[in-house]
Amino acid sequence: MPLSRRSLVGAGVGLAAAGWLKPFASRAAEPRFATDPFTLGVASGFPEPNAVVLWTRLAPEPFAPGGGMPSAPVEVRWEIAGDEGFKQIERNGTAYATPEWAHSVHVEATGLSPGRDYWYRFTSGGVRSPVGRTRTAPARDATPAELKIAVASCQHYEQGTYAAYRSMAADHPDLIVHVGDYIYEGRGQRAVRSHDASEAITLEDYRLRYAIYKSDANLKAAHAASPWMLVGDDHEVANDYAGDHFLDFEPALFHSRRTAAYQAHYEHLPLPHRFIPLDGRQRHYTTRAFGTLVNLIMLDGRQYRSPQACDGGPLVLPCAELVAGERTMLGATQEEWLKGALTGSRARWTLLGQQTLFAHVDESVDKEVRYWADNWNGYPAARARLVDFLAERKIRNPVILSGDIHAFLVNDVNTRAGEPDSGIVATELVTSSISSNGRPQKDYDVWKPKNANVHIARSDTRGYLRLSVKPERLHADLVAVDDIKRDDSPTHVLAAYDVEDGKPGIVR
Ligand code: FE
Ligand code: CA
Repeated sequence: MPLSRRSLVGAGVGLAAAGWLKPFASRAAEPRFATDPFTLGVASGFPEPNAVVLWTRLAPEPFAPGGGMPSAPVEVRWEIAGDEGFKQIERNGTAYATPEWAHSVHVEATGLSPGRDYWYRFTSGGVRSPVGRTRTAPARDATPAELKIAVASCQHYEQGTYAAYRSMAADHPDLIVHVGDYIYEGRGQRAVRSHDASEAITLEDYRLRYAIYKSDANLKAAHAASPWMLVGDDHEVANDYAGDHFLDFEPALFHSRRTAAYQAHYEHLPLPHRFIPLDGRQRHYTTRAFGTLVNLIMLDGRQYRSPQACDGGPLVLPCAELVAGERTMLGATQEEWLKGALTGSRARWTLLGQQTLFAHVDESVDKEVRYWADNWNGYPAARARLVDFLAERKIRNPVILSGDIHAFLVNDVNTRAGEPDSGIVATELVTSSISSNGRPQKDYDVWKPKNANVHIARSDTRGYLRLSVKPERLHADLVAVDDIKRDDSPTHVLAAYDVEDGKPGIVR
């Protein structure tokens, strides 16, 4: 059903009448809502052994400016319980949803027990939110028998339904990892459904965009099913932006656009308080341990990177600039931080969640060699630094989880890029898009044989990765959506791969 911004805004106009909110004295208002304020659902994220972030946003009219909320702070009660019926409430409190942050709520619920399920909900103005289920990380010294992780990326609202999320929610993974392109900022295209909005530039534009995406029932179900960890990529801000650079935008103008985008991103996702954007910068990189089984490191390859090399991209013939040693994907500070996060890990599996294709891939469909300038193939010196570090320090079982290309790829990461006979340092699992269109499969079929380190390359299906991590083995299902036009489409396993402890690369 096409979404009409105007009709949705119009439908709610009457709700803003005076007296809709009680006047408030010294503290935040206890509002009376004429319609459900929890239209965007609930979410949790970034689990620790004793803590998890709980999120919601009050928006009785999610497509109206301000979400249909008054420009005043509003009290929101939160509860987290050990049972679905909320008989054993473990922690509760009051948060304040303020207009400055689009009446979003980010609670860091602490004092929880490790490695167990919890249920949470919010109440405001006597209205209760839906119940979300979350799960704390195992204790630091625990060795869980299994950790179930789903990996998602690239969910263009107009190009497909979120049937993948329906399937993912039914899986009840311990964790959902999203590696970017949660929204797309562009102008409406009207494919399967429509944003019905112009390109997002201002804070209100980005807020509306998140509201449109988060109104989807399958996406809400996935947020309510499991805790998430996320890192934004380019489309949360602007296509292929690189650090402070975006096309020929005036730096100051792009900075204010990025500031708006980062704020809306924080407002709509279950991010820890330390991710609150400040002066147009936002912390995205972090790490979480899941007992001694998994260390998950989330990297930000977008905010600190050098601009893409060799004008004329996105697919470029290598030029001198491409291989320059000083070019960076992560920025010097994050690179140093990453070394500490890698060497400080005691976990069996080291998962690196990040946005773009990491392994060496020549994507040329002719006789030349061509690299995609926006992914790590456009930053070979930065990639070599990380690969060398993984090899020299014998980092345990590195598995890189990537997205961005709207295709499933399973790759060996070799000691020397482009030399498939050199040793294998790490395994890369690239998830296809949740809904964004892929590039033509015939191109992949042409370039794949040139890249012996690539085991599968499928751009003709949407879906997600379903991982089961056990001490001896990591199993990955490439889950494909049967019919992207159907909200209730079934999914099937397109292919499955295993990685064995101590043996980088897939089991053959
Ligand atoms: Fe994308
Ligand atoms: Ca992207």
